Amino acid sequence: MQESVLLNVGFFAKSCVVLVCLCGVHLIVALFFYLTVSTSTKFYYRQIPSDSHIVTSQTHRRAALDIYANGTVETDLNKLIYINASVIKDDVEEPAVLEPCPETSPLLEGPLQVEFSEPVSLEMVRKENPQLMMGGRHKPSDCVALQKVALIIPFRNRDEHLKYWLHYLHPILQRQQLDYGIYVIEQDGVDTFNRAKLLNVGYVEALKEYNYDCFIFSDVDIIPMDDRNTYKCSSQPRHLSVSMDKFGFRLPYKQYFGGVSAMSKQQFQKINGFPNNYWGWGGEDDDIFNRLSFQGMKISRPSGDMGKCRMIRHSRDKKNEPNPQRFKRITHTRQTMNTDGINSLKYKVINIEKDQLYTKITVDIGKP
Ligand code: BGC
Repeated sequence: MQESVLLNVGFFAKSCVVLVCLCGVHLIVALFFYLTVSTSTKFYYRQIPSDSHIVTSQTHRRAALDIYANGTVETDLNKLIYINASVIKDDVEEPAVLEPCPETSPLLEGPLQVEFSEPVSLEMVRKENPQLMMGGRHKPSDCVALQKVALIIPFRNRDEHLKYWLHYLHPILQRQQLDYGIYVIEQDGVDTFNRAKLLNVGYVEALKEYNYDCFIFSDVDIIPMDDRNTYKCSSQPRHLSVSMDKFGFRLPYKQYFGGVSAMSKQQFQKINGFPNNYWGWGGEDDDIFNRLSFQGMKISRPSGDMGKCRMIRHSRDKKNEPNPQRFKRITHTRQTMNTDGINSLKYKVINIEKDQLYTKITVDIGKP
């Protein structure tokens, strides 16, 4: 009896040892599977086949983002960008996804010093902006810009002003986290200048290059004095140069829509673009204002403080004398706007110059 009890205790002790050994083996097997599965997950990411939305940079994360920023990889808000996990050290093991940029850029500085006493050269501006792509294009490298903005500048014989404009605006637009391109639309020949027709040309030509959704129409001699005045579009057409030094830092009149303005593609199309038959200085911006109000739109504006800007002083350009017909024309906007505009635009491209700082398109737009 005593012997059989002792035998049972011995059997129980052996069973316990076997059980502990089994637990140990189980633990080792589980650990092995855990490590294998997590490694193969990483391997899976490395094996994602390359297509236009997947970046497999062999350098580092920054370089991969630069590829995106430089336009090699097109994307939109809904598409993801994967960065090769193998080239990102311990801090980023998962594929990186670019988030939309914030509504208000954290890079803004507020009021800016704007002066025209020191001369600037294009070479200097190019060196100041090494990250620009050909044609004066840029987009943020660490987020997806909220808007794709084409900046359109009507131009003739204002090289000195253009240098200042590029010098001041490129850094501002980058701090505003915009996906943007600069289009200088130069009127060929010596006939009377036509600002609004050049702006129409800029709209059409910019859209041939990229799917812009916002258009900024800016005179070459107007520089914003505060980078919180973001060069982007809103739900209503936006007037940006609301507080110019030339007018004593206030609006010259309530309907004033000249200088710098912003319109989305939809807003621009709704008014059939701009009039093509305002030759010489003045009136075309009033016609645009009329078009917008006839289509039931209201002008949105920044505060007078944020909307401060400087105009580079200059004498009147030759062949841009005040247009004596402007007063009469602006009384007929309602009758003319549906037949004179983007649907009746005719021009001939003479030359396209791609610089690091801008795309300059020289056009023959005819004469009065
Ligand atoms: C002209 C506009 C101009 C404004 C401010 C108006 O009389 O018609 O084209 O922008 O004056 O100079």
